[in-house]
Amino acid sequence: MLIVRGAIKDYDWGVIDGLQPWSGQATGAPQAELWFGVHPGGPSPLVDTGGEPTGELLADHFDIEAIPLLVKLLAAARPLSVQVHPPRLLAESGWRQQQAPGSLAVYSDPFEKTEMLVALQDFEAFAGWRSEVEAAAILSALGISDQIVAAVRMRDRATAIRGLLEASSPARIGRLAEAAEAAGLAPEQVAAYATVTEHYPDDRGALLTPMLAYLSLQPGEAVYVPAGVPHSYIRGIGLEVMTSSDNVIRLGLTGKPVFVDQAIAALDDKVAPQMMATRHGDLIWPVNAPFVVRMLQSGGERIPSGAYRILLLIEGSARVESEFGEIVLRPGTAAVISADDPDSFVAADGLVAIVQSTSRQVEFVHERWDVARNEY
Ligand SMILES: [Zn+2]
Repeated sequence: MLIVRGAIKDYDWGVIDGLQPWSGQATGAPQAELWFGVHPGGPSPLVDTGGEPTGELLADHFDIEAIPLLVKLLAAARPLSVQVHPPRLLAESGWRQQQAPGSLAVYSDPFEKTEMLVALQDFEAFAGWRSEVEAAAILSALGISDQIVAAVRMRDRATAIRGLLEASSPARIGRLAEAAEAAGLAPEQVAAYATVTEHYPDDRGALLTPMLAYLSLQPGEAVYVPAGVPHSYIRGIGLEVMTSSDNVIRLGLTGKPVFVDQAIAALDDKVAPQMMATRHGDLIWPVNAPFVVRMLQSGGERIPSGAYRILLLIEGSARVESEFGEIVLRPGTAAVISADDPDSFVAADGLVAIVQSTSRQVEFVHERWDVARNEY
């Protein structure tokens, strides 16, 4: 059992000092993400029981085989890019091909990125496809050409995406909110489109957002986003759990490169986002997800051996015990427990995120989970 802090990311869409309760520092700059894992893009530093850095990294002790998940705290002041994450085979082949000299750097690693966002505060997102009737109504009200609107109606997403990015006037971005209202969308959705226009008045990727479904999450609620699902988180603070990958293929709302062909290739119409209307304490277990999450508010829970486990303290205090000893977590620190470590027990008074890997041990977790009693 080791203790880590998050590796901070200062992406420009972050909230000024938004992660201070967990980063432990005010920087006066955007604090967008804290990473808890071994991904080389943001390896987590180890800390001692007093919270002081030991000078080592979690990655000095474990590799991605042992730590297959990346957990993040995320604070979004404005919309993140419209993006899609590649499924496993595409990530593998794309990464391999890109090793050739002179290739475009599209992929960050050879791994699938499948993710889930658990709202810690009210959180808004675009995720998955909006109904084609509604999407067509917004785009028609925007004055988008009949040809592109017809492609949307026929769910020909590749043609629609290319048409919106290449053949539509960016001047239409200024009328997104008006068009959403004309199409009869609720006020919070109209406001979300006004936000997109405000922050990305010249970014053609904004014209893709009418194709995306709008979600509003209350604290404790979650959305699972399998690889292949287009999405753009709009605003809020949340916990993100994902496979240990940084493969993001962007379509718009970003200053970073967009890769339209690769993003279209990564889209998978057979999967959709799963909204989980959970409350603190419920087990969050999306169908086919490589992880389960429980936001434990108070009380105790046994966390069995046999799967990778990470316990991140969000607020209050928590004590984690195993036969090897006991540690006390402070907000923003996490106990990392490998699959080979023994059973652990957590006692929380506040809010602790308990994240467990299921990919290799799914049967094991199924066996031990008592559905009727909602406990192990
Ligand atoms: Zn994403």
